[in-house]
Amino acid sequence: MSVASDSDGRPVVLVVEDEESYQDALNVGLTVEGFIVVSASTLAQARELLASTKPDLILLDVMLPDGSGIDFCREVANSVRTPVIMVSARTSEVDIVLGLEIGAADYVTKPYRLRELIARMRAVLRRPASPTDEEVITFGPMRMDFDRRSLTRNGVDIDLSRKEFDLLALFATRLGQVVTREVCLDTLWWGLQLSDTRTLDTHVKRLRQKIELDPADPIHLVTIRGVGFRLDA
Ligand code: CA
Repeated sequence: MSVASDSDGRPVVLVVEDEESYQDALNVGLTVEGFIVVSASTLAQARELLASTKPDLILLDVMLPDGSGIDFCREVANSVRTPVIMVSARTSEVDIVLGLEIGAADYVTKPYRLRELIARMRAVLRRPASPTDEEVITFGPMRMDFDRRSLTRNGVDIDLSRKEFDLLALFATRLGQVVTREVCLDTLWWGLQLSDTRTLDTHVKRLRQKIELDPADPIHLVTIRGVGFRLDA
């Protein structure tokens, strides 16, 4: 873990990568290209450095020793909104990253060429900061505030766990659209098999108890048999 002392106008990039060979190559290559490199090899270090160094850009590996880069990407997208470039080892991971709309600005696949990566980094840095992301989504009497991570019904707070909020957010950002069970699992329970859907069903059940007047006969969070779920206004 290394921390930049001063940036004198140079962009600060937080590199979250547990493979030393990549970490070393990026340190050298990006510094030569005029970036200040701040390195983390775990999500715990990344969270710490995100707060202490306020990077302009994050280069984020998917598979990390203490968790998934996907989760961290979503955290960043829901909070400080520093642009994130996802770095994945397999194209199957890219499909997931793209399919999830987790808020990544771009992605590259390993092995990548440094020149291509830097071109993408510069392109992302040139983009104007966060366009018109919706901060609040309403459905029925419910109001979901993404900045505060809160849900209210007719102005009264409804207590949600972190996972419950994230799952509801997944549905709310696709209001009126079917969200497949597969997408739910991939988004919130990275690595869990499609066959093991009890966790998902439990969370849906709990959400219904909190947002539906009659949880047994839901009108907002409805099941699309054999496919997934849909949140209706
Ligand atoms: Ca890795």
